[in-house]
Amino acid sequence: MSRIVYVDGAYVPEEDARVSVFDRGFLFADGVYEVTSVLGGKLIDFGGHAARLERSLGELDMACPVTMDELLGIHRELVRVNEIDEGLVYLQVTRGSAGDREFEFPDPADVPSTLVLFTQSKPGLADSPKAKKGIKVISIPDIRWGRRDIKTVQLLYPSVGKMMAKKEGCDDAWMIEDGHVTEGTSNNAYIVKGRKIITRHLSNDILHGITRAAVLHLAREAQMEIEERAFTIDEAMAADEAFVTSASTFVMPVVEIDGETLGDGTPGPVASRLREIYLEESRKSAI
Ligand code: PMP
Repeated sequence: MSRIVYVDGAYVPEEDARVSVFDRGFLFADGVYEVTSVLGGKLIDFGGHAARLERSLGELDMACPVTMDELLGIHRELVRVNEIDEGLVYLQVTRGSAGDREFEFPDPADVPSTLVLFTQSKPGLADSPKAKKGIKVISIPDIRWGRRDIKTVQLLYPSVGKMMAKKEGCDDAWMIEDGHVTEGTSNNAYIVKGRKIITRHLSNDILHGITRAAVLHLAREAQMEIEERAFTIDEAMAADEAFVTSASTFVMPVVEIDGETLGDGTPGPVASRLREIYLEESRKSAI
């Protein structure tokens, strides 16, 4: 059975899905996206992803062709028809196609946004072997634009960053600006000193992770100490443990930074416990 995807109101087999060559997502990376995870056939934190999508769209004066309720229905229908037990739903809204290439935004009254969604089946997502071993990261300069709080599809540099990490036998890269870590290429970054969790404060410099919000909430409920501030890569290399969070990796322990092993080189107790709590609570509140 081929995967069924959603394009502008229609559910179609992936090989029949079409978007114009003039689509501004394709020509200008003029689009925003969301990734929502699926566990046990249910959506994790859909409300958070829908709210962030509305904010991203608003910041770019872009319209969404459907309501958030309809969006929930589309997510659920794709999970159902593609029989997703564990995996992801990817959603992208672009400013559509004005039928030519012009820098100026087209009038949304004339040009509707393009809406595309597809599923990615990932059996074993929650029970990832990587989470048991931990990942290795390198640091790279953060040369992205200044509105990283908007979840745009401009992902070339994060892709380049991941390739730089891969070349060094590592899994991911943490990006550095003005001497401080901003975030991972596709995740928020944390270090642990003693029992204190340190992660960069929210601003336009980083994406406001939906998983970050949930994990910090759960950590506070578990009486863990949290400091939201920028930290340097040297501080990170000297930390007791480190981890990243994202919708597709949940809480992922980091065991090596720029060749420096953290602790005994295995996932630390804080990251491991947070992963456990996060998965448990997410399954409970999934819709
Ligand atoms: N930062 C960046 C740059 C990301 O791409 C992502 C994942 N989309 C995150 C953080 C984590 O966000 P979330 O927890 O909402 O997946």
